[in-house]
Amino acid sequence: MWNLPKPSIATAQAHLDKLFPDDPPGSVLSKIEKEKILELYCEYELAAGRPNVDWKDAGLSAAARAALLGAYSAVSEVGKLKDLRATLKLNVNECPYCGFGEIKDLDHHLQKAHFNCFSIFALNLVPACSKCNGHKPRKPRTDPKKQHIHAYLEDMSQFQFLSAEVVIGPRSMQVKFKIDKVEGMSDELYARLVQHLKDFHLNDRYPAQVNVFLSEQKAGLEFAFEFGGADGVRSLLDRSRLAIRKTFGENDWREALLRALASSDLFCAGAFRLALGYEAIEKPR
Ligand SMILES: [Zn+2]
Repeated sequence: MWNLPKPSIATAQAHLDKLFPDDPPGSVLSKIEKEKILELYCEYELAAGRPNVDWKDAGLSAAARAALLGAYSAVSEVGKLKDLRATLKLNVNECPYCGFGEIKDLDHHLQKAHFNCFSIFALNLVPACSKCNGHKPRKPRTDPKKQHIHAYLEDMSQFQFLSAEVVIGPRSMQVKFKIDKVEGMSDELYARLVQHLKDFHLNDRYPAQVNVFLSEQKAGLEFAFEFGGADGVRSLLDRSRLAIRKTFGENDWREALLRALASSDLFCAGAFRLALGYEAIEKPR
């Protein structure tokens, strides 16, 4: 969750040339305009994709901008740039915005309707699930504290900021995810991460995933408890957490969940059975 490996932009010029060839002359985008677009791509990368109002007009003619906006149709599964689509989706198994959704779409980090010039720019195309793509605001935000994290260009791994709060009731368990403002984190980044949870409705969407994930751990938890008691359960949770962390990073929701469960004495001491809803509460005799 949060980050994806940065795709290569070595083919950016080739993509423009493929859609807007110089030969024969008369293409809707001139050679000079294409050079300008490549400069804008460099600016975008240097700015880590933070929106800049100057990029809306971008010094390009209205016709050039309209052509770039329309060019995104070439990034379909059968379009001239279908290889770009396939490359971006290659090896991305889970949506970087939620950490569980199946990759279906390419999200324009900067909305293509407002930033036409980045319509087919690889760094602006983030593989995402349809739900997250649907939750993305349609208008760019001017408030820096509400701007989205860039999955390619803003490395979040220096901070461990996602945590879970677990409340175990008599027959159920509630989990809520939150952002911790850790040492060294700016107020702005903290606000943007909080906004991320809110924008993608993650605390509404995580419970279903938590249920599925924990139901898959039932047999392991039982075994660990039977042979090791609370310490056995805690040890299992810790080992699972480290494995998750290695694969998905320190801010994966499963990592945060397992960390919270391992620190719950109640859960480790057997309440996992009640929390997971597969043992009735015994009445005291
Ligand atoms: Zn998603």
